[in-house]
Amino acid sequence: MPDADSTPARPMIDISNIRKLFGTFEALDSITLQVQEGEFFSLLGPSGCGKTTLLRLIAGFGEPTAGTIAIDGQDMGSRPANRRPTNMVFQSYAIFPHMNVAENVAYGLRRLRLGKEDAKNRVQEALDRVELGALASRRANELSGGQRQRVAIGRAIVRGPEVFLFDEPLSNLDAELRVDMRVEISRLHNEIGATMIYVTHDQVEAMTMADKIVVLNAGVIEQVGSPLELYENPRNRFVAEFIGSPKMNILTGVQAAEKQARSIGIRPEHLTISTEAGDWKGTVGISEHLGSDTFLRVDVEGVAATMTVRAPGIYKLE
Ligand code: ATP
Repeated sequence: MPDADSTPARPMIDISNIRKLFGTFEALDSITLQVQEGEFFSLLGPSGCGKTTLLRLIAGFGEPTAGTIAIDGQDMGSRPANRRPTNMVFQSYAIFPHMNVAENVAYGLRRLRLGKEDAKNRVQEALDRVELGALASRRANELSGGQRQRVAIGRAIVRGPEVFLFDEPLSNLDAELRVDMRVEISRLHNEIGATMIYVTHDQVEAMTMADKIVVLNAGVIEQVGSPLELYENPRNRFVAEFIGSPKMNILTGVQAAEKQARSIGIRPEHLTISTEAGDWKGTVGISEHLGSDTFLRVDVEGVAATMTVRAPGIYKLE
C-alpha cells in the first residue's frame, strides 16, 4: 500500500485542457490548472484576458468548448450552476434592497429546504462571520458599500459551499474600503479554510491575498506560482511587467546586448540614485512622493525608456 503521506492529494478543482470559443473568437485556450483544497487562488490578468470566462465555467455558467472540470473528484460535465458545490460573489452584489440583512443572507439557503431553526442558526453564524450580527434587521438599501459587500459574502458562506468564486468583488469600493475588505476576505479564508478562486486585474490584491496566482494573458496561462515566486522568478516578460508596482524597468538596447539578452529587467527598488558618479548618468524628471517611498522617473543617457527608481522614504534631490 502506498504511504499516505506520499500520495498526492486529489485536487479540489481539476481543470484539464479547457478551451472556450465565442463564435470563432478563442477566449480560453488549453487551460490546465489544479487547485488543492483550502487554497486561495487568484486569476490575474489584463482586461479581456479570460478571467471571468474561466470563473464562470467553474461555476457552471456556460459550458467549455472542450476540456473538463472536476470538483472534489466529480466531473462537472454539464451540471448546472445550482447543483455544483460552488458559490459566486459578483462585482455587483445582487443583494435585494427591500430585504433586511438577515433576509438577504437567508436567501442563500433557499434551495436547501432546511428546518426553520437550522436555517436561523446558519444565518446567525454567517452574520457573525462577516461581522454583521448587529445589523441583521437593517434594510439593505441603508448599508454602506463595504457592508453590502459583506452581505454578499455572508450569503455565499451561509450555504457552506466547498468552493467560493469571487469576480472582482471589491472593484466598486473606494480605496480605503478595498484594503479593509482585502484583510477581511483573507481573515475569512483563514477561518473557514474553504477553497477560493478570486478574479482580479489588480496585482496588489492578488499579491496580498492569494496563496497562488494564475497570470492569464489573451486566453492562455503565462505562469502559476506563489506571489513571491512570480515576483522573483517571472517566466517571461509579460509576467515580469505585470507583477510589481511601479513596473519593472525593461532595457532592450546596448545594455541588453552586453548581456547577450534581448531585454533585461530591473525592478525600481534594485536601482539606487545618487548625486555622485555611478554606472549610469541621468536626469530626474518627475518625483512622486508617497511619504513611505519616492518614485523617481529618470531619463538615463543612452537608455531609450524613462527608468523608474524607488527610493525608500522621502527623497529630495539637493
Ligand atoms: P475584465 O477584467 O475586463 O472583466 P476578463 O479577463 O474577465 O476581463 P472575460 O470577460 O473573460 O475577460 O472575456 C474574455 C474575452 O472573451 C473578451 O475578449 C470578451 O470580449 C470575450 N467574451 C466574453 N464573453 C463573451 C460572450 N458572451 N460573447 C462573445 N465574446 C465574449
